[in-house]
Order: sequence, then C-alpha cells, then structure tokens
Amino acid sequence: MEFAKDRVRYMEIIFIGVGEACDSNYPNTSILIKDAGCGNHLLDCGFSVPHYYFGQCFAPDELDTLWISHFHGDHFFGVPLLLLRLWEMGRKKPLHIVGQENIAAKISKTVNLAYGNLAGKLQYELKFHVLPPNEKINIAGLQWQSAWGNHSRPCLALCLNNGRKKIFYSGDGRPTPETAALAGGCDLLIHEAFMLTDDIPGHGSIQGCINFFRQAEAKRLALVHLNREIRLREKKSIHTLLSHVPDQACFLPETGEKIIL
Ligand SMILES: [Zn+2]
Ligand SMILES: [Zn+2]
Repeated sequence: MEFAKDRVRYMEIIFIGVGEACDSNYPNTSILIKDAGCGNHLLDCGFSVPHYYFGQCFAPDELDTLWISHFHGDHFFGVPLLLLRLWEMGRKKPLHIVGQENIAAKISKTVNLAYGNLAGKLQYELKFHVLPPNEKINIAGLQWQSAWGNHSRPCLALCLNNGRKKIFYSGDGRPTPETAALAGGCDLLIHEAFMLTDDIPGHGSIQGCINFFRQAEAKRLALVHLNREIRLREKKSIHTLLSHVPDQACFLPETGEKIIL
C-alpha cells in the first residue's frame, strides 16, 4: 500500500493493561496505539480493560479501531462495557472492529448477552473486518497483517505498519514460523510471556520471547501477560533472564506506561 507522505509520523504506545486473565494487581493485557497520522487503535479488550481505557481516553470519538486477537474472555469480554460507555458518552463516529473469522457474530452475541438492548440503541456504526492470516489490509491509513500463533484457541498475532514504524503484538500463544516471519525487523515486539521457560503448551515464556526477539531482529521487546505468581515470586529469575538482552532493549511495562516510537 502507499503510505501518505505528508502525515506526521510518530506513535505513542500506551500499555492499558499488562496482566493475565486472573491477575488482581494488573489489568488484562491491552495496548493502545496512538498514531499521530492514523488515529487510535486498541489491541484487545478483556474483562478489566474498559475501566483503565477510560482512565486514559476521555473523548467518545477518540478511538478508531478495536483489534481482538482471539476469543478468550481476558481479550474480548470487555467489549460490551466499552461499547456501552461510548454510547453513554454520545459517540457518533463508526468504530472499526477487526479480528478473525466470526468476529461480527462473536461480538454481537457477547454484547447481546451483556446488555440485551444495547445494539439497537447504538448511535454509532460498528464496522467489522476479517483479517485473514498473511493478507495485508488497509484500515485508517495503517497496514494490518496477521499470522496464527500457537495457543489453546485460535489466536492471531498482529503487525501494524504506518510506513515508518512496525509494531508486532502476539495476543496469546507461543511463537510459530508464521509469527516469526510477521515480526521480522519490527520496531517494537509486544509478546505474551506467561511463564519463565516454555513449560506450558500454547503459552509464551520470557526465555522463549527473548529467543524470538533475537531471531526477529526486532529493536525492542515488551513482555506482557506474565503469570501472576511468577511476576510476584520470580523477580530475581526474571531479572537474570532479561540481563542477557543488551541495552535495556527488553522491558516489562507497568500499567499505564507510555513509550514513543
Ligand atoms: Zn488466550
Ligand atoms: Zn490471555
């Protein structure tokens, strides 16, 4: 795709949440990307995300796109509350919702279950897009591309490209050859690292992510979705693993942490 050349090009990345499903100290993993030229994009919206999202974003029309990596509750059960509050705030602008096959049916069902009459009341349009793996599509001036990770439910990793910077977000799951190809050379690699080492099938690990980061030749690595017990009790082991990555390239973002690319 052709990227607009006259647009200002920088991205602000806000870690709305960095936790796993059951963590009471860290909200579910969710990333807000504010692109100076191409709008605002929220990656995943689990149970606890809307409360933290609205702590960072106050205007109803601020959000352009919502990405859902897969259909586990800690990644999409916050959608009804997000849509409800945007309705209450008087949103008018269409909201793009992007994900895998069945995204429209899954979201509609979830919203109807949570708030039976909400869908009929919305004064803004929901525009659903399916992003088939390895296809490139253009939404809101960004290039979107996905690949299957290795998780207990089908989960798409995402690569967003604004023509200057490339961001990779794994959703849940262990790397695959397809996600490795997608992540190649990215400026920021955000990866799920549930364990210290690859002990649980279908989940990433800190050690595995460091290897993946090296293989992808990415510039920075943000580790999210850590198991709550490991985050609390294994600080020394985590520190030792991270110390093998030079120049502070690898970090564990805190809730609400912001970086600029
Ligand atoms: Zn999951
Ligand atoms: Zn998860």
